[in-house]
Amino acid sequence: MDTYDLVVAGAGPAGLTLAWKASEQGVRVLLFDRKKNAGHVSYTTSASYIDLKRWALPDEIAHPITTIHFSSPGAAIRSSTRACVLRRRQLLAELEKRCLGNGVEIRYGTYARDIDVRDEAIRNVQLSDKSAVDGAVFADCSGLGNVFNRALPVNTSPATRALGYEHVVPLNSEPEGIDLYMGGVLDGGYGWLFPVDDERAIVGVGTLVPEHFPRIRQMLDLFLKVPRIAERVENNPLESYGGVFQSGMPLKRFHRGNLVIVGDVAFQGNPAAGEGIRYVMDSAEMASRAVTAAVKAQDMSHLGAYSQDWVDKYYSLYRTNYKVQRFLVWLTRQTRLLDFMVRMGNKASDSTVETLVRGEASGAFVLAKLSKLLYKPFT
Ligand SMILES: Cc1cc2nc3c(=O)[nH]c(=O)nc-3n(C[C@H](O)[C@H](O)[C@H](O)COP(=O)(O)OP(=O)(O)OC[C@H]3O[C@@H](n4cnc5c(N)ncnc54)[C@H](O)[C@@H]3O)c2cc1C
Repeated sequence: MDTYDLVVAGAGPAGLTLAWKASEQGVRVLLFDRKKNAGHVSYTTSASYIDLKRWALPDEIAHPITTIHFSSPGAAIRSSTRACVLRRRQLLAELEKRCLGNGVEIRYGTYARDIDVRDEAIRNVQLSDKSAVDGAVFADCSGLGNVFNRALPVNTSPATRALGYEHVVPLNSEPEGIDLYMGGVLDGGYGWLFPVDDERAIVGVGTLVPEHFPRIRQMLDLFLKVPRIAERVENNPLESYGGVFQSGMPLKRFHRGNLVIVGDVAFQGNPAAGEGIRYVMDSAEMASRAVTAAVKAQDMSHLGAYSQDWVDKYYSLYRTNYKVQRFLVWLTRQTRLLDFMVRMGNKASDSTVETLVRGEASGAFVLAKLSKLLYKPFT
């Protein structure tokens, strides 16, 4: 039996950040993932408001974004912003480098065959490489995989799944401008255009309506014909990807026994903005502090600090955002109201638009801004 302080399932942004931050504090970590290598991901889109400096990440892993063009079928807003499009494979490679530098053992092409749970705790895991591993703490960072969460359930809430599909295409214009589009031809869905460098962009569509999942490719074809999108990119796909983003009503508890759950498995991607990476990395750092304390004190009650920190920082915002997500699904089908709201957004300042797009608007913020805008006469 190989013994570790922390055994992590899933080497996505959550698992790699948790492994990196915990190993920095001397925690001995095993990280396993069924994918072939760090960058073996099924989609590359990652528009983000991440602060690269906070994570000491190099500028090269991101492409800068300075404008957002948000449109509905009959209206548009243009706003300045300071965001980026992360090169997801480079980000994962960078996080992996830090883990390896701290002595984290990473096993790719590996999954859990059998998980032994007794007395409200995970005792050991039989891995597909025929090894058996024991850990003081286990972390489920496997996104939709639910590797440990299935064996010792922490998140049992119903998930809302958004299906996304995207092409990498040649870019003709505005290498620092992203486009977001809602409703219209996408009928209950949304679309995006994110430049990844000066010559290529990702064009994608997403929907939260399960009946539309089978027609996601047709939705993308329709989106590529929207005049502004057709002008900005060539309909000549160089690569194509699909993926599922999972969210839900926010949880209040992310630990049970000697298990913590982090990232998409724990609904920690922002439900309104669909932005995951920045939030799951922050959540993973919170988890790493509690895991380190639990390992050092050999006392699992320290894991509760992670749940508490997350709830204090995000619960109320995410509750509002989950309701906003439901409202947006409905709004995408009310074309006149959607156009009206986008036109109204034209009166808002860049910072208000940015707060909304970042998914950081509280209920009070939205009400205050709405009432102010409703009083402004339309020109
Ligand atoms: C199409 C799409 C577009 C998106 N766009 C953006 C965006 O623009 N900006 C943004 O910030 N976020 C975006 N997101 C969300 C973001 O990708 C997620 O929130 C983030 O990747 C979650 O990180 P994670 O580490 O929790 O999970 P994941 O990234 O899903 O990583 C989970 C890891 O677990 C592994 N795994 C799964 N099952 C098993 C198993 N049984 N055994 C072993 N390993 C397993 C997987 O191989 C994977 O490496 C998007 C998501 C999708 C689907």
